[in-house]
Amino acid sequence: RVRTRFAPSPTGFIHLGNIRSALYPWAFARAKGGDFILRIEDTDLERSTQAAVDVILESMEWLGMTPDEGPFYQMQRMDRYKEVLRQLQDAGCVYPCYMSVEELDALRERQMAAKQKPRYDGTWRPEPGKTLPPVPEGIQPVLRFKNPQQGSVVWDDKVKGRVEVSNAELDDLVIARPDGTPTYNFCVVVDDIDMAITHVIRGDDHVNNTPRQINIFKALGKEPPVFAHLPTVLNEQGEKLSKRHGAKAVTQYRDEGFLADAMINYLARLGWSHGDDEIFTREQFLQWFDLDHLGRSAAQFDEAKLRWVNAQHIKRADDAWLAGQIVPRLAARGFAEVPLDEGRLTAIVALFKDRCETLEALADWAAVFYAAAPSINEDDYRQHVTEAVRPAVAALREALADTEWSREQISATFKTVLKAQGLKMPQLAMPVRVLTVGVAHTPSVDAVLELLGKEKVLEFLSMR
Ligand code: GLU
Repeated sequence: RVRTRFAPSPTGFIHLGNIRSALYPWAFARAKGGDFILRIEDTDLERSTQAAVDVILESMEWLGMTPDEGPFYQMQRMDRYKEVLRQLQDAGCVYPCYMSVEELDALRERQMAAKQKPRYDGTWRPEPGKTLPPVPEGIQPVLRFKNPQQGSVVWDDKVKGRVEVSNAELDDLVIARPDGTPTYNFCVVVDDIDMAITHVIRGDDHVNNTPRQINIFKALGKEPPVFAHLPTVLNEQGEKLSKRHGAKAVTQYRDEGFLADAMINYLARLGWSHGDDEIFTREQFLQWFDLDHLGRSAAQFDEAKLRWVNAQHIKRADDAWLAGQIVPRLAARGFAEVPLDEGRLTAIVALFKDRCETLEALADWAAVFYAAAPSINEDDYRQHVTEAVRPAVAALREALADTEWSREQISATFKTVLKAQGLKMPQLAMPVRVLTVGVAHTPSVDAVLELLGKEKVLEFLSMR
């Protein structure tokens, strides 16, 4: 059974690059009928916060990436890590190292001066026939993992292909600090074993940890999982996506009116493809997702593309459902009493959804229909509500007062007035739109007037 995990460190902010690292393991578990596990890697006590955990949970909840198990917290598993550490000690895979920070620094400097890669030199590594230095007094040792010295670590990365790292390049990793707390790479392996993770899908900033982790798996007598290391997500300037470089929090997209399904669609395509399909539903994605079509090169975030994808999803969304999404956004604009049941909001949404890239834009349009007066675009007003057209607007208003309020009848009234005034449709429709909903460009004017309601139309046509 496929088991994947998302293992974020709750150290602040969660941007689109981070959440993509949750999307793929989630989708892979769903596609394979497996389990998706959420593990909070909160061992960095100085930087981890509950607020950051909440933001992770909130982002995942919004996007509907529901874990089957978890969240598990690494800080609550310390006893377990220590227990496994003792197993490794008993198996002779671990040794104490008394090298002081100063000695380590000096070693690093010597190696750098000799143009060598800085690495621990194995001073305290016990070997048959080797005499270790005398144990210094009053120093608590770190524990180091006895990395194999021969051979190499090889894995078949689902993104990078075959990766081989010679053990000669890996030094003996510190797996417990002087106070006995286990270190990051060790905890990850214990967790991935205990949680029976079959596929580790994560950012390629972890690829250097992977050979070390594989060696720990082997020392514990376990088969390592399949690895897929995802290429970085870059921002529009080609820098790594980060808060410092202006990345937005995932939840900000929700606030700006992006649909969860559109985000999933966009993020899915940011590093994975399914033929030429650009727009797909959540269900399609969860059926289609595989590890064989992950991209190998860094993906670049493109807000314009995201907006386009969102527009496609809004266009395809069910009108009544969309109306429900608009209600709280209308409330935020001061229209708390908008009733959903009578279908008016649904009709407004149906009329405008094709021209809106976000729910916020759609809510702006909907708000026009609940406003006490239009907020008139002055440029449109100057251009279209000319002195010459005023008599025709007045004649239309008069004729509309006697019109039965349906789209067809409104349209018929327009035709009669246009004929009598010798005008073409846009010459009258533009000023009427400006006066009633504030701007010259809207969907069909008869439909707009019908939704605005007779009372308001008659009032607004004589206001300015
Ligand atoms: N906690 C790590 C991070 O937030 C992820 C570790 C992993 O996926 O193995 O980058």
